[in-house]
Amino acid sequence: MTASIPPARPVIGPDEIAAAVRVLGSGLVVQGPEVAAFEEEFAAVVAGRHCVAVNSGTSALYLTLLALGLGPGDEVIVPSFSFAATANAVRLAGATPVFADIEPGSFCLDPAAAAAAITSRTVAIMPVHLYGHPAAMDRIMPLAARHGLAVVEDAAQAHAAALHGVPAGAFGVAGCFSFYPTKNMHSLEGGMITTADPELARRLRLLRNQGMEQRYQNEVVGANLRLTDVAAAIGRVQLGRLAGWTERRRANAAFLDEHLAGVLTPPVAAGARHVYHQYTVRVPGSRDAFRAALTERGVGNAVYYPTPIHRLRPYANGTTHLPETDLAAAEVVSLPVFPTLTGAELERIAEAVNSAAVPA
Ligand SMILES: *Cc1c(COP(=O)(O)O)cnc(C)c1O
Repeated sequence: MTASIPPARPVIGPDEIAAAVRVLGSGLVVQGPEVAAFEEEFAAVVAGRHCVAVNSGTSALYLTLLALGLGPGDEVIVPSFSFAATANAVRLAGATPVFADIEPGSFCLDPAAAAAAITSRTVAIMPVHLYGHPAAMDRIMPLAARHGLAVVEDAAQAHAAALHGVPAGAFGVAGCFSFYPTKNMHSLEGGMITTADPELARRLRLLRNQGMEQRYQNEVVGANLRLTDVAAAIGRVQLGRLAGWTERRRANAAFLDEHLAGVLTPPVAAGARHVYHQYTVRVPGSRDAFRAALTERGVGNAVYYPTPIHRLRPYANGTTHLPETDLAAAEVVSLPVFPTLTGAELERIAEAVNSAAVPA
């Protein structure tokens, strides 16, 4: 039998290994010239914004909220249909996540639901560009401006996504990216904060490094959330491939859009450039059987996310009512869409979906 197709296939190839070995051999492995170069080069992805590298996407979100001065009593509006890191960052900063529902078409934060969740304590909105589809920033930014709220983009899944030509990570006061191995590009572990505000960038640089710009001249209380030069060197190799990989993801998605039957393929909002971190279909009613049939046919698949954050133990209060979030969590299945899929693998995925999706 042919090998199963995994849900994701992170690349750690000869170039990544050579870059890591080169940095290891240099003896300069902690944050240094590779991190600085990675930050400079990543700016091209976010319309030239300042970029501050950190050791994970979660650190990026957390550090941004700290740098913005958020803390106890402050509320941040977040979608519940996301990875727990989105809400964890808010809690770790001492603030309170307030969950709002999603738009069923994009799986992203519903601006009307966000508006309805605003209280006198709200200080920020944190939309998530889920699966690589940009959130409705054209409606979220004006909403935030009307209420004087900061917007922090969780762009962990959205490298090179865009809405009406503006890249993800270039809308809010800050954008936060992840370089976890399964993301659209990786640095083993890693993250990047993007901002147009040089003062915020400086605060972020202080906070990630014990509050120091000059060694032993600590200006504020900070942590150690630095990226290593080894990770940055790998990230730079991956960044060089991001444009090509993104086109492959989009082409793979276009193939699946055209060839899948019996499931609801992912819609794309007008003006949105979807980068398909995940290719996520809806299978109303029969998801478990559908998934089992795919697995049997050697087609990897996954559910992101089976439990909305507002139903996870640290966040459940029993009163939050998010019907579109609950429905999505019950229906979604993500199929392989990663850039190194072969034509034969894409055809296998389509055949497996089309036979698995036939109603019993
Ligand atoms: C991956 C991810 C994060 C966290 O990134 P890490 O690098 O794993 O810490 C945050 N938000 C979302 C939506 C993610 O997918």
